[in-house]
Amino acid sequence: MTLQERDKKVVWHPFTQIKTAPLPISIVRGDGAYFYDEKGKRYIDGIASWWVNVHGHCHPYLSQKISEQLQTLEHAIFSGFTHEPAVQLAERLLKRLPANQSKIFYSDNGSTAVEVALKMAFQYWSNQSINKTKVIAFENGYHGDTFGGMSVGARNAFNLPFSKLLFDVIHIPVPISGKEQNTLNALNDALKHDDIAAFIFEPMVQGAGGMVMYSAKALDGLIKICKDKNVITIADEVMTGFGRTGKFFASDHLMHKADIICLSKGLTGGVMPLGVTSCAQFIYEAFLSDDKMKTFFHGHSYTANPTACSAALASMDLFDKPEAFENIERIEQQHNLFLQKIRSHKALIDVRQLGTIIAFEIKTKEETNYLNSLSEIISGFFISRGIILRPLGNVLYVLPPYCISNKDLQIIYDAIEEFLNFCREDAKAQR
Ligand SMILES: *Cc1c(COP(=O)(O)O)cnc(C)c1O
Repeated sequence: MTLQERDKKVVWHPFTQIKTAPLPISIVRGDGAYFYDEKGKRYIDGIASWWVNVHGHCHPYLSQKISEQLQTLEHAIFSGFTHEPAVQLAERLLKRLPANQSKIFYSDNGSTAVEVALKMAFQYWSNQSINKTKVIAFENGYHGDTFGGMSVGARNAFNLPFSKLLFDVIHIPVPISGKEQNTLNALNDALKHDDIAAFIFEPMVQGAGGMVMYSAKALDGLIKICKDKNVITIADEVMTGFGRTGKFFASDHLMHKADIICLSKGLTGGVMPLGVTSCAQFIYEAFLSDDKMKTFFHGHSYTANPTACSAALASMDLFDKPEAFENIERIEQQHNLFLQKIRSHKALIDVRQLGTIIAFEIKTKEETNYLNSLSEIISGFFISRGIILRPLGNVLYVLPPYCISNKDLQIIYDAIEEFLNFCREDAKAQR
């Protein structure tokens, strides 16, 4: 039996219709921006392995640091105990995070980082006996697959079976260019309710919603209004953190800083699962009490896993070297050159870019959304050319590891152009 056949017998894959999906490709090795399958075929990882990888696969420095940690302390309970990797990582993250952030709470992934943020916000009010339980979030947002994350995310096909079980959220439109006033009006309407606990958002880029981008200026205005109205602001930087948007955090583009920030994905360089929720001092202080009931009763068995923390520390070391941001700027420039070249292509509705992310919204007869059938055609087209791109419906995007070479970027751009020409020919033929 091949690995794929064995897989099909026993494994259930995420976000996959197991009946109709093609067999998964078995990856045996990673190296820099490449994956190799069991037949030795090489693939360029154009999406950083679901947006997590930053320095490249199997980076020798990360591997060495993690293996050193494994030989000293692999894991330890984190309630009543502490260890160097967790403390040092908190110190180093707080140096990089906006200055208003003062405490780090660890968990396991992006969804749990969001759950922790929401629970902190709700309990912040409840600890003060103030009845605020509603959340404001953007339409079209994505904050993870747990119940809190689903509740504050867009209501769509992903969570339809659970719709009755999700808590009440006021969704407001995303302030994309030209629509900023709609968002301001919707926010001001929502804030007429006096029970708003928090406003959660993906700063500047909505990832899973189709790489929808909006300006720092628009977001600054919204955060300011929330602060004036005493509403806790939560920046979900799970995707945007660690250089993705051209700055270390998307929050670094903003004047007004969120009270709570969620991190994961690039946190460990894309090597180990780890989530972080950071918060401002005033949030933390609402939990300091002689009353045990005001404790934040949240934790996971693997909270602050030392091995994962050591991966994050090693990744921070690499970010401290000039090459990291030189690469980010280089990718930004390459993306921008390609954007200029392709922007008026007839197969496109829109092309947009922020930092190392470039996204192409392709014309189809169907609506722009995740279930758009173009998605499978796109994946197959690129896989056959040795490129991993996994579109969000009809939105194709490139979000590479920062070590990717200009040559490999060009291979991806050329393939995208070829695909867009193919779409164009196809549309003509059907007329
Ligand atoms: C991926 C993502 C999450 C969920 O993270 P997981 O680690 O997949 O649970 C939450 N928020 C945003 C913005 C994301 O992109």
